[in-house]
Amino acid sequence: MSGIYYKVKCKCGNEQRIFSHASAVVKCEKCNEPLAHPTGGKAIIHGEIIEELG
Ligand SMILES: [Zn+2]
Repeated sequence: MSGIYYKVKCKCGNEQRIFSHASAVVKCEKCNEPLAHPTGGKAIIHGEIIEELG
């Protein structure tokens, strides 16, 4: 499966890498806020995408 990584900023200020096609809910490592939800394809990103990492 192809995909990239996003650097996503949570509203708490934490930044972490999230796979664009995450297959499980990704939560913020700091505040536990969900940052990505799987769709079977491209995940829905809830945080602010500040960078795309090839
Ligand atoms: Zn957070």
